[in-house]
Amino acid sequence: MECFTKSFTQQEPLPEAAIEAAVAVMRHGRLHRYNTVAGEVSETAQLELDFAAITGAHYALAMASGGTALACALRAIGVPDGAPVLTNAFTLAPVPGAIAAVGAVPVFVETTANLVMDLDDLAAKIDASGARYLMLSHMRGHIVDMDALMALCDAREVTVIEDCAHTMGAAWDGVPSGRHGRVGCYSTQTFKHVNSGEGGFLVTDDAEVMARAIILSGSYMLYESHRAAPPVETFARIRYETPNTSGRMDNLRAAILRPQLAALRPQCDAWNARYDRLTAALEGTQGLRLIPRPAKEAYVMSSFQASCPDFEAADMQSLVTAAAARGVELKWFGAAEPKGFTSRHDSWAYAPAQSLPKTDRVLAALIDMRLPLTFTLDDIDLVGRILREEVSRLVQAKAA
Ligand SMILES: *Cc1c(COP(=O)(O)O)cnc(C)c1O
Repeated sequence: MECFTKSFTQQEPLPEAAIEAAVAVMRHGRLHRYNTVAGEVSETAQLELDFAAITGAHYALAMASGGTALACALRAIGVPDGAPVLTNAFTLAPVPGAIAAVGAVPVFVETTANLVMDLDDLAAKIDASGARYLMLSHMRGHIVDMDALMALCDAREVTVIEDCAHTMGAAWDGVPSGRHGRVGCYSTQTFKHVNSGEGGFLVTDDAEVMARAIILSGSYMLYESHRAAPPVETFARIRYETPNTSGRMDNLRAAILRPQLAALRPQCDAWNARYDRLTAALEGTQGLRLIPRPAKEAYVMSSFQASCPDFEAADMQSLVTAAAARGVELKWFGAAEPKGFTSRHDSWAYAPAQSLPKTDRVLAALIDMRLPLTFTLDDIDLVGRILREEVSRLVQAKAA
């Protein structure tokens, strides 16, 4: 029986250019973004220009983490204390966490079988909750019909913040992910599309929102050294009225991110080559439902999801165990106790308990797997064979 032996959590080494840039910053010692010599534009300020260019945003702010960017975005658009904020029931903990961090209340929206926000449920919950804000999470890189979502939110005057932790480099109908809503937030944490250990971005075209975000990020009165930023007049009142909630990026991380951003396109292509190869290998496996991708979606898939709609909890557990015994690490969100990274709404007990039967059904049948770039296409073929065999074995066992 074939087994797979590589790690599902091993990243590629950083590019040599990133290592050299990091060493240069360490040699001069000015790691703080506002510690510059005359005429110098810090690595962090340059990184923001790079990211604004990639996304086409007027303004970009580099931050300490993706979660920090999400909370900062909510504060910068002025979400009041206690306000309901809609978000996906299927997302990662920092998303409802950011909503809770600003004193707002997460209201979860159901998930479709294709792993995106259920727009009928969104409409119903906007009306029922009176929420004026939506934090839309493009969880695992699956992008909802953004034309329909924005039409719905615009008609009901709901401000959209996009969580693009899994969609850096992706697009809907040619518009980069993060550029449909008022604010887009990204993560540069190790398991995302660029790797600085920790880090994040916030982008917007709204000058006042960006001015508040810059002050919130901990710019003291040094905001004039930002380059991908609104004119200094925008800060006139905002600099006095906005608290410093300290969540800056530093020059060391900025230095290692810039060469990675320059190579974002080929990296995204490399991820998709793996994802498409695995999808092809699993096509037609009885008992396994692949997620269809809309024509307008230009995805970047650094992970793989599929569902086993006919499997019960015990079958899912058997599949996870059988795959693990052959070296294939699957995540399943249906277990009684959430493991590792929590992505289940009922494990976020700080939010009011909510009934989400559709999401629960989807998650109970879902398998989730990382696709690190350290896997070759041959590795992917092997993983595909193992998965196909184990799903088929269970399907046959159930039929017998
Ligand atoms: C990783 C992640 C974030 C932000 O994470 P940080 O670790 O704070 O950078 C936000 N949303 C989702 C869906 C994520 O996976």
